[in-house]
Amino acid sequence: MRVSRTIMSWAAAMLLAGTAHAQATYSDADFARVPKLDAHVHANVDDPVFLAIARKDGFELLSINVDYPDFPPIPLQATITEKKRAADPEHFHYATTFSMKGFGTPGWTERTNAAIDAALAKGAVAVKVWKNIGMVERDPQGKRVFLDDPRFDGVMKHLEDRHIPLIAHQGEPKNCWLPLDQMSTENDRSYFREHPEYYMYLHPEEPSYETLMAARDRFVARHPKLSFVGAHMASLEWSVDRLAQFLDRFPNANVDIAARITQVQAQSRDDYPKVRAFFLKYQDRLMYGTDLTQNPPEPNARAQNPPAIEDFAKEADDTWRSDWHYLATDGDQKVDAIGATVKGLALPRAVIDKIYYRNARRIYQLGG
Ligand SMILES: [Zn+2]
Repeated sequence: MRVSRTIMSWAAAMLLAGTAHAQATYSDADFARVPKLDAHVHANVDDPVFLAIARKDGFELLSINVDYPDFPPIPLQATITEKKRAADPEHFHYATTFSMKGFGTPGWTERTNAAIDAALAKGAVAVKVWKNIGMVERDPQGKRVFLDDPRFDGVMKHLEDRHIPLIAHQGEPKNCWLPLDQMSTENDRSYFREHPEYYMYLHPEEPSYETLMAARDRFVARHPKLSFVGAHMASLEWSVDRLAQFLDRFPNANVDIAARITQVQAQSRDDYPKVRAFFLKYQDRLMYGTDLTQNPPEPNARAQNPPAIEDFAKEADDTWRSDWHYLATDGDQKVDAIGATVKGLALPRAVIDKIYYRNARRIYQLGG
């Protein structure tokens, strides 16, 4: 009797210790040693700097190739990412993309599937579609193309059959459709002030925010077996409540938080318990990402995430450390983009491990 009670209390103590460990938080000092994966970067330069700082800071990278005019042409992005993966397959992963050229003409589906297969054979782990679908592309009849167009079905079925995730950047931050004085972050305000051509509030003839979100939702509903990754918090960055509804409605969907952390911070400034509860509840569905972009210097580039030209390694290191401070610790941090000091979410270690590493490893089938 005494023995069994001892064993029971020992077991209870171990269980408690395990729980305490899972509930404990990391510190700033833990940053470099904890395995992490930045699930949304763009490594568009044949240069070892990005991987070097990633290895030093304990990061793997998922670099996403995009059909984007300010980036190098798709074949060059492919060459660069293939080379980086060959150099360090443990730390470097990448997603391929496809061109919309010829969409809606005979043979587009077959050509696109063949191009995707060739990229997968070389090591790509996912396929990306960008906001040009919905905001720019038109079919041969001049009609705007949205992602839920049935003419994408053959490609999406191919991805479903091969269990390849689709990363979709659809729409823009909701701020893009709001007057300047109603935008929630200074970075969006200055960007759209300086880029009126991309500022949809000034172009009411273009699809509205809700039109684009509805097309995306119809697309996800149309392909329930597709592993869907909503880039940039699925463009629902302005409301964790709205993003929660999206994740509840679509069990096949996950999101990265790339380039939207200031939107999260704006919400936690206003309602800290709600935002922290969101991260705890959806801890299996969220992936850390930054949108860090290393691009060839291009004076005319109009990217929303302007590539660092000065000291890329420092920018990456600073970004990663300040995000870690916010997500992993309870420390304060001044966030210029929202003009406020925000307190860190202090997510438990087990949750940080998922958001920073395990979810991406699982969703992109990287093993482990
Ligand atoms: Zn991006």
